[in-house]
Amino acid sequence: MLNRTEAIVVGAGVAGAMTALELRKRGASVTLIDRWEPGHWRAASTDYNRIIRAISGRDEFYTRWVRDARERWIELQAETGQKLYYENGALILATEGHCDWEDATQDTFQKVGVPYQRFKAEDVPLHFPQFKTDDIAYALYEPEAGMVMAQRGVQAAVGLFERLGGKVARGRATTDRSETLHLDGKKLEADLIVVATGGWMKEMFPKTISPILGLVGMSVLYTSTPDGDDSFDQSHMPCWIDHGQGSFGLSSVEGSGVKAAVVIPDEIDLTNDERLIKRSTLSRTQSYLRTRLPGLVGQRVVDSKFNGISITPDTHFIVDWHPEHENVLFAGGCSGHLYKHGPTFGDFVAGVGLREYGTADRFKIAGRRKLSPKESPSGR
Ligand SMILES: Cc1cc2nc3c(=O)[nH]c(=O)nc-3n(C[C@H](O)[C@H](O)[C@H](O)COP(=O)(O)OP(=O)(O)OC[C@H]3O[C@@H](n4cnc5c(N)ncnc54)[C@H](O)[C@@H]3O)c2cc1C
Repeated sequence: MLNRTEAIVVGAGVAGAMTALELRKRGASVTLIDRWEPGHWRAASTDYNRIIRAISGRDEFYTRWVRDARERWIELQAETGQKLYYENGALILATEGHCDWEDATQDTFQKVGVPYQRFKAEDVPLHFPQFKTDDIAYALYEPEAGMVMAQRGVQAAVGLFERLGGKVARGRATTDRSETLHLDGKKLEADLIVVATGGWMKEMFPKTISPILGLVGMSVLYTSTPDGDDSFDQSHMPCWIDHGQGSFGLSSVEGSGVKAAVVIPDEIDLTNDERLIKRSTLSRTQSYLRTRLPGLVGQRVVDSKFNGISITPDTHFIVDWHPEHENVLFAGGCSGHLYKHGPTFGDFVAGVGLREYGTADRFKIAGRRKLSPKESPSGR
């Protein structure tokens, strides 16, 4: 049956682009609006790439979602003819005395059927000689993990959405004191309005969203691979998560250099800040790399990004209706892990938006509480 829903999606990051695409695939008439060009550098869904890995501690929900999302990324890649996914695996380094998340993950992997291997600390360099791991307890290796090309993924989804008849428009939506949405001085009207404005949701919805959304800035650094040596390329090296050191990274891909982040939460003004990395962050990240990837000593920084992560208290996403505007659905809540779920998230939000089913309890605005690192899907 023809779906006659008129939908507007505000925000063309991964959450909005994938939702718009899935609404369009279900037959809705959809306009996707963004302040800037989809894939722009202020959004969270940008940079070259994002890690996709199923590891989520004891949380089976996200583990299953990532398995589903991985297949959908591969399908989107085939549908768009663009390289969106590199399956170079993910290595999770478990730190002595802080392995609850990694321990719990093994049980979840077994239940859900996620392929993985466990390596003793001393065996990691036999598999991946780039890493120095004498300080860790053990490592988990997830082979069906890797990286999704982030900016390209958004742009590919938006391109497909347009090819399927979706409309893309440039504009900045605003809200008034009752949190009613406007565009160009006029109230936004549609059967369904999906708000997927990422970290900007906080300032747009001071009553409804701000109390459950924090915002932090994070820097990542790209370091050149050694001259004449391809061992730090994605063809030879996995992505890695190093919770004990508050760090993660991705091997070099398409000439990017090795990307590494040491999580040092900073303030960020998403709209107005210059996106430059601080010297203190640079030193901390380089010092981390010297210890963990000694083969990169002496290599030069070739790129860097400074971006915002919005975080809910329990690190669960937000997919819920506005309490006072019955056609307004929020879709976001980043919490540092939304990108990888993009296509699955968009499919889920489209179904909620078209009232095919209700949202999941974990995604509701009400009842948020901080989880311990043991319970949290992100281990933070
Ligand atoms: C440094 C860093 C590393 C990360 N690493 C990973 C990772 O490895 N794996 C992973 O899965 N996730 C990762 N994440 C998280 C992931 O990138 C985010 O959760 C995800 O991209 C959030 O997408 P979004 O669409 O909700 O928000 P955004 O991408 O920020 O999109 C919001 C969009 O809304 C638009 N907008 C805002 N206000 C308005 C308005 N008023 N009117 C119109 N448009 C508006 C913006 O222009 C923007 O395009 C990382 C994030 C960062 C910052």
